[in-house]
Amino acid sequence: MTPAIRTAELSKRYGSRTALHALDLTIPSGSVFGLIGPNGAGKTTTLRMLLDIIRPTSGTARVLGEDPRTGGPALRRRIGFVPGELRLEGRVKGRALLDHFADISGPVKPGAIDALAERLGLDLTRQVRTLSKGNKQKLGLVQAFMHAPELLVLDEPTSGLDPLVQREFLTMVREARENGQTVLLSSHVLSEIQQTADAVAVLSRGRVVAEGAVESLRLASIRRVRAGLADTTEDAVRTALGKLTHLRDLDVTAMGEVVRVTATVNGDIDAVVKEIARHRVVDLAVEEPDLEESVLGLYGDAASTERETAEEADRG
Ligand code: ATP
Repeated sequence: MTPAIRTAELSKRYGSRTALHALDLTIPSGSVFGLIGPNGAGKTTTLRMLLDIIRPTSGTARVLGEDPRTGGPALRRRIGFVPGELRLEGRVKGRALLDHFADISGPVKPGAIDALAERLGLDLTRQVRTLSKGNKQKLGLVQAFMHAPELLVLDEPTSGLDPLVQREFLTMVREARENGQTVLLSSHVLSEIQQTADAVAVLSRGRVVAEGAVESLRLASIRRVRAGLADTTEDAVRTALGKLTHLRDLDVTAMGEVVRVTATVNGDIDAVVKEIARHRVVDLAVEEPDLEESVLGLYGDAASTERETAEEADRG
């Protein structure tokens, strides 16, 4: 089957700055693909080229079998797009705006707009300019999903949404896949990609530094742990956790009756949890760290070596 998206050596320069270096990406039809990376990694640049909002400096892209540069409105109607920075006409009501988009995007099943608005908790009777950022984002999502396009391209789609709505959105993405649609979404939040994507590419400074099934990415194994332990001493906790060699940035501080611990775990969480569990636990949180920190920590060397090689080649 033709992949939904295929790029070959797709590159974009802005003056002397290369925003994207020779991207080779294949996204199978009917899958959910996550593009993750810290700010400035090149995610938006990639998605805009697929939509023909900007044009590549070199390389090729095929979207639903077509070249975005020549696909025109016919190709565009087969795609639902949420841009990273959504700008909407403000002097109309939500429903009027969506009806206008429906005229452009092609057939929308009766009731589809209301069903989506209801799921996301969006009031369509309000003037767009009076909506909060999150509610505007919901309008963006409704316009992308309402005509059940073959391909959804979503740039940071959950920004501004509260956690409950984010969860509903992730369900919508899974349903789209069950429906045979393809979804490409970008994010700088690893967990939302982990919950939905079949495969991911990690971009850093315009290059793919890791690619594959979500579980295969070592990024998922870096976590930040915070705990509050009681009936123990700072020394006892420091000695016990200090033995675990895969803990970084270990900080142990007694605050009144409680010993506060923070650390970054790179790998097996089991040993850490068991060590913590020897004490009375009054508080425990396990979070993913900042994506930039993880990408640079794990792949930084590879990314910068490649960059230097490329810069040398550019100069040569
Ligand atoms: P973010 O999460 O911050 O949106 P991103 O991964 O989407 O990041 P891009 O917006 O694609 O990153 O930007 C990639 C690089 O290209 C950045 O270094 C950015 O400064 C640069 N860039 C993007 N657009 C332009 C432009 N119009 N002119 C010059 N440089 C640009």
